[in-house]
Amino acid sequence: MSAALKQAIQNEARRLGFILAGVTTPDPPPHLSVFEDWLMQGRHASMNYLADDRSRARRADPRLILPECKSILVLALPYTDPKTAEASNQPAPSGRVASYAWGDDYHLVIPEKLKALVAFIERQVGHPVFNRWYTDTGPILERELAQRAGLGWIGKNSLLINPKLGSYFLLAEIFLDLELEPDEPFTTDHCGTCRRCIEACPTQCILPNRTIDARRCISYLTIELKEDIPPELRPMLGNWVFGCDICQAACPWNRFAASEHESPALKPRTGAPRPNLIRELELMPKGFNAKFKDSPIKRAKRRGYLRNVAVALGNSKDANALPALTKALDDPEPLVREHATWAIQEIEKKI
Ligand code: SF4
Ligand code: SF4
Repeated sequence: MSAALKQAIQNEARRLGFILAGVTTPDPPPHLSVFEDWLMQGRHASMNYLADDRSRARRADPRLILPECKSILVLALPYTDPKTAEASNQPAPSGRVASYAWGDDYHLVIPEKLKALVAFIERQVGHPVFNRWYTDTGPILERELAQRAGLGWIGKNSLLINPKLGSYFLLAEIFLDLELEPDEPFTTDHCGTCRRCIEACPTQCILPNRTIDARRCISYLTIELKEDIPPELRPMLGNWVFGCDICQAACPWNRFAASEHESPALKPRTGAPRPNLIRELELMPKGFNAKFKDSPIKRAKRRGYLRNVAVALGNSKDANALPALTKALDDPEPLVREHATWAIQEIEKKI
């Protein structure tokens, strides 16, 4: 019964769009000390929610999240592989957005699928099942659970990599009060002597123990950081205005991965991969909210996104951006004004 139930759950997960579905136990994660060291070194930057006592205790023992938990189902939903995206015809200067953010916000898309999967499981067993689900936001080491559920290995770029599918997918987990046969952990490390992600990272923030120093990571700086971007790091951001795909794009396992698995629910919006930076800088609050309704870019808020746009314009060294940047000196947000000032100085150095 258990094997048949697990197979039925995996089939339903695939029907819902998940490309990987494995099972692990709620046992404590064996590499917790790596994460604790990372916190001790302050490499979580301003993400203090990662370091509070309650979430640390839960991360150390998943059963604290759901005492009835007997199995954890770990799932992966694919997003657009940037190598399949159409070449952009956007006039310069254009920005770049991490590919997971080209469509709707996965925080809106994935929960609906997880709820549907739980409902399916309850129909199969014929009674309600205690459950708890997460995608990205929970106090759990989700990549470690995914490795233990057989989905792939944790690469030097700190991401979970599957040998057939690469790493362009999002993880989600369902804690279940249900005995399911755990999968074999994925124990092979396919990084070998490769260092491409480490060498490609513009801010050199990939650490030797397969973690990232968030304080220098473009993903953190353009999304989570709410204040000024440190001036010495701004030139390294290039034209990334929300997230960064460089360490994934450099990875050979993504270059040769099957790329036809894009989730329709995360389909890219028109123009999303390469936004026109001058037009973006002119977005007022109403226009920003309308353009990014249900998009993950809303997470940066207008002030953070336009801060990033200003930095990208400064890095473009394009004098065509000067009128828009000069107008931004009157922006209601001091954060935007400060970064527009920096961008103007950068461009004027080249004139
Ligand atoms: S996301 Fe970008 S900045 Fe962050 S580790 Fe990867 S390459 Fe480096
Ligand atoms: S680029 Fe190379 S070292 Fe980095 S995660 Fe991919 S295989 Fe591993």
